[in-house]
Amino acid sequence: MLRGRGERGAVEQDEEEQLKKLWPKIKPYIPEKGQRAIDAHGVSEVDSDGDLVTTLVEGRKECAFTVFDEKGIALCGVEMAWKDGAIPFRKPISCHLYPIRVVKLKEHDGLNYHKWPICKPACTCGAKLDVPVYRFLKDALVRAYGQEWYDELEVIHTEWEKAPKRKK
Ligand code: SF4
Repeated sequence: MLRGRGERGAVEQDEEEQLKKLWPKIKPYIPEKGQRAIDAHGVSEVDSDGDLVTTLVEGRKECAFTVFDEKGIALCGVEMAWKDGAIPFRKPISCHLYPIRVVKLKEHDGLNYHKWPICKPACTCGAKLDVPVYRFLKDALVRAYGQEWYDELEVIHTEWEKAPKRKK
């Protein structure tokens, strides 16, 4: 999933290594301007907050791994390569978890939902189908925290649904 113009994914150190190693196999999926950016600056760079993030294309508009389809919908070139079976790495976990953003707390991770107007149609669809965000992101959450953690989350959610709600 693309995170918007000028948006890119946070990259863990080991993910940077993976992207570097797999770049020759990812490259054919990436449009020329993304290829140029990555060939010139590498798969990642350090942003103004000092975080390691995916490289942006020239003009700093979108992540260099972005692929636009014929309808102008932004797709992830890394994930396209993964779906084709060309690489074993799906995409950075921060991208996979979006719209959940992880905040590193002292002993735990804080998982926050990032509200962004562009995601409104997806939220409306999720509400209609009664799919909460965490369930929509099951694969990513299991990848990040494990199956046991996710199963516990399901139990907590079920209990929370049964509990009487405070009136707003
Ligand atoms: S790596 Fe893929 S999902 Fe992450 S910001 Fe870039 S295009 Fe989007």
